[in-house]
Amino acid sequence: MEKIIKSYSLHNFRNIPQISNLSDELIRDIEIVGRVLPFKTNNYVVNELIDWDNVSTDPVFTLNFPRREMLRKRHYDVVEKILNENADKRLIDEVVKRIRLTLNPNPAGQEHNVPYLGEIKLKGIQHKYPETILFFPSQGQTCHAYCTFCFRWPQFSGMNEFKFAMKEINLLLKYLKAHKEITDILFTGGDPMVMSAEMLAMYIQPLFQKEFNHIHTIRIGTKSLSYYPYRYISDKDSDDIIRLFEQINASGKNLSIQAHFNHPVELSTNAVQQAIKRIRSTGTQIRTQSPVLNHINDKPELWAQLWRMQVDLGCIPYYMFVPRDTGAKHYFELPLEKCWEIYRKAYRNVSGICRTVRGPSMSDLAGKIQILGIQEIKGEKIFVLRFLQCRNPKYVDIPFFAKYDSKATWFNQLKPAFGEEHFFFEKQQCNLHAKCDLLFE
Ligand SMILES: *Cc1c(COP(=O)(O)O)cnc(C)c1O
Ligand code: SF4
Repeated sequence: MEKIIKSYSLHNFRNIPQISNLSDELIRDIEIVGRVLPFKTNNYVVNELIDWDNVSTDPVFTLNFPRREMLRKRHYDVVEKILNENADKRLIDEVVKRIRLTLNPNPAGQEHNVPYLGEIKLKGIQHKYPETILFFPSQGQTCHAYCTFCFRWPQFSGMNEFKFAMKEINLLLKYLKAHKEITDILFTGGDPMVMSAEMLAMYIQPLFQKEFNHIHTIRIGTKSLSYYPYRYISDKDSDDIIRLFEQINASGKNLSIQAHFNHPVELSTNAVQQAIKRIRSTGTQIRTQSPVLNHINDKPELWAQLWRMQVDLGCIPYYMFVPRDTGAKHYFELPLEKCWEIYRKAYRNVSGICRTVRGPSMSDLAGKIQILGIQEIKGEKIFVLRFLQCRNPKYVDIPFFAKYDSKATWFNQLKPAFGEEHFFFEKQQCNLHAKCDLLFE
């Protein structure tokens, strides 16, 4: 059993023993594309998840290792050129920065979700839906490995300061005290489970006090079960993590791990199965989510298998997402119609126990929009949609219609059906965003 995580990124990935069997082109592609897109992997992923005999199609290799096709050709060519010319670091950084800015680093208007406490802007919080806040502890802004499709990459950094955390915790607690409508706090990142048990406890234990009785559920969004399950088994503070989970459940609050699994292989190792068992033994629920991604999980059979395995292991399928418009989107995206077909074909082949899942869902400026299906009404082919979550809760669950578009990959490419000018929730004007009434009402 591996007890110590060994991380690999651009500067040391050549030390991965299996890399020496890759072609020169694949290695060169990692070096070029890895300058622009996030790149980090580790010994567990490399030794237990990737099938090195099938690198050209292996889903976990694609999930962690940059491939040539993930960059637009013109971007690839520029980076290749300046690397060949041995350009100095400043120039390379500048070029990389410019390319990144063209890749929509902050999709779906996430900056609109950052709230204020009096005059102070709470950069570590997103409060979009009344009952739930996202909290980004500064020590959790990295991951055990990076997903090549990820939209959170602008915020990855390696901060590690207790003092800063204390300041942050105090602001969080003040905000929660002032907002009794909040029932759920979702720790996210990056990956909060890169934090030590001690740091995690510093954030969570204050919530056991009486004045936070309105917080019913603590959620932790994490990919650690898939990228480093030893976090729960054999790290030096694994037992402390498990005790903290027990303590949270004993406090009367729900603890839900929002686990991120993209492919059934991530559920297949002894380590992940043991980790899930250990977490479940504390009374913690594990809910699962993933985007539907070209080259990774674009087959209904894979999704049916994913949901069945999750349920067998005691996890609850929760969301299927449409990947956001960021980074290597052109490589991972699928037409909305295809996303829905994958969802539907998988959904109809699993038992009701797996059908807790909801999707495919687009997290857009207004909310989480689910594609309910494609229909033809009086000769017009349409998408039937609804909000699973909305900035304005009064719009949740009302079906609405968009003109069918075989190529659309995101909500902003859709037009209202039946010749309407606006979607039903866009009728009034607001001064922040050109055509919505969602931000302030
Ligand atoms: C998905 C999401 C949540 C949680 O929504 P639930 O429907 O409660 O799972 C909270 N905030 C944001 C910004 C989200 O995207
Ligand atoms: S684990 Fe989550 S936050 Fe980290 S790179 Fe993957 S998708 Fe992004």
